[in-house]
Amino acid sequence: MKKPLLFHILFLINTLYISSQVFEKEPIKISGDDDKRINLIILSDGYQTHELPLFVTDATNFTNDMFSQSPFIEYANYFNVYAIKVPSNESGADHPASATDVTEPLSPIKNVDTYFNATFDAYGFHRLLFHEIDGNSANNTQLKINTVLANNFPNYDQTLILVNSNVYGGSGGEFPMSSTGTSANEIAIHELGHSLFNLKDEYYPGDTQAAEAINMTQETNPSLVKWKNWIGTNGIGIYPYGVSGTSASWNRPHQACKMQFLGSPFCSVCKEGIIEKIHNLVSPINDYSPNNDTTINTPTFPLNFQLDLIKPIPNTLENTWTLNSTNYANNVDDVSILEANLVKGLNTLTVVINDNTPLLRVDNHQTFHLNTITWAINYTTLGIEDIKSSVNDLRITMSPNPTNHIINLKFENTKDFSLKMDIISIEGKKIKTISISNHENQQIDISSFNKGIYITNFYSNQVLLASKKLVIN
Ligand SMILES: [Zn+2]
Repeated sequence: MKKPLLFHILFLINTLYISSQVFEKEPIKISGDDDKRINLIILSDGYQTHELPLFVTDATNFTNDMFSQSPFIEYANYFNVYAIKVPSNESGADHPASATDVTEPLSPIKNVDTYFNATFDAYGFHRLLFHEIDGNSANNTQLKINTVLANNFPNYDQTLILVNSNVYGGSGGEFPMSSTGTSANEIAIHELGHSLFNLKDEYYPGDTQAAEAINMTQETNPSLVKWKNWIGTNGIGIYPYGVSGTSASWNRPHQACKMQFLGSPFCSVCKEGIIEKIHNLVSPINDYSPNNDTTINTPTFPLNFQLDLIKPIPNTLENTWTLNSTNYANNVDDVSILEANLVKGLNTLTVVINDNTPLLRVDNHQTFHLNTITWAINYTTLGIEDIKSSVNDLRITMSPNPTNHIINLKFENTKDFSLKMDIISIEGKKIKTISISNHENQQIDISSFNKGIYITNFYSNQVLLASKKLVIN
């Protein structure tokens, strides 16, 4: 999905040092086009050539395990998984027996020649399985990983290195590693929680790692905390990490999330964070038709318009079709338009797609992942002069909410658009209209408004895209 520009530059530099090599790639789980999915790439370490079928089995087991758990079970169609078979000269991982957190040797001492040089005992922790960390060689290993990815799957979104060892261990960071020992799949899924979805540990990660994140905060006010919409549901609260010291000033949302205990499910706050990231990386619109500008000299009615959506399981996508400012259909993937439905001249057909999953309660979700397709149908006496389509992924954040004197509107989309925002009182009276014709963030003064609940409606071309509650206090 991603197109890392810097990556190609790095790749050019890397190839000066490391020869390029293409390895066999095995599709493990394919949901659709790579450029419309999150691509998870699993690399092997410590598997000799004759053990690569075992690696494919291990990668498949990991994938099956990951996609049997929420929210990956619901969003499985948004992912592709590939295994890249990188052979090593020897099997397993290094175990120098240099850990200081256990009585060594906990497992047999080993020094094996593997492609990415995975080693236990990293930084003195037995279970910390990492790529080589001794000085310059560590950089070489990172270059090796980057080079393998650049040569074999440059548009990857996330990678995971599976290490052929049944000793329990793993690590996070840019390139998470996991052994194939008991619970190893759980380590890998937990580590992906960090590296792909920006989640923090829900056991205290130490003062240097403590920071504001999706599932970690110093806010203790239940009406202000970032997971405020979940408080009291599914065990979500505000729980201090520790009883004294700095750890007591940091809070987590749950007492038994996978980010704390392997084998537990992700808590509702972490699930929500994962789904929001999935929506940031992948549009639910896989394809639509017509999607090229078309001219139909002798139109045959009805004209057909179709969506191909990437559906969650169960499908929580909702859509609203509007023709010339009038609601035309709801929650269908295709519509037919009759000649009688069209006016002479320009007609506008728009569909707005929104994921209404109960797993999301985050503020702004409705306006932050707002996918629209618009068809401009030019209908003249000569026929359909043309049908022009455009797709947009609008991202509008309105904050703070509740507010008392200003609203900040922030836009994060890439295409030109013109938008109108109406602020409507609870009695249905239009109080203010704001026109927005560029991507500039806007600040709206509402200090003269009475306290109470308002509705904000966002329109594009007379089409209602989204409705949001605004509380002025
Ligand atoms: Zn959690």
